Amino acid sequence: MHELSIAMSIVEIAEENAQQSNVKSISEIQLEIGELSGVVHEALEFAMEEAVKNTILKNAKRIIISIPGKVKCLQCQHEFEVDDIFTPCPVCSSFENDVIAGKELRVKSMVGE
Ligand SMILES: [Zn+2]
Repeated sequence: MHELSIAMSIVEIAEENAQQSNVKSISEIQLEIGELSGVVHEALEFAMEEAVKNTILKNAKRIIISIPGKVKCLQCQHEFEVDDIFTPCPVCSSFENDVIAGKELRVKSMVGE
């Protein structure tokens, strides 16, 4: 399952950061997940439940921040929000675009003790 490996790498990142800053437990973790990243939030939540067991994140409150997908048209430079990258430009109907937001998949912040 894709989301489980993501959840496990999130735990890994959290444990590394905690070690570096001498944190014993994490009370809150904020994750930024882009809507174009292909991650299903519910599946990630479910996977996190499993992945945090017996780790520094076991009691951490999880906050998932969704980043809307945004692309820039390569033909007319118009920037617009999309649900998937195969959306034509509303100005010139071109399908050629660059993703400028929405592929995020990262730990935004953590609160430790
Ligand atoms: Zn365009």
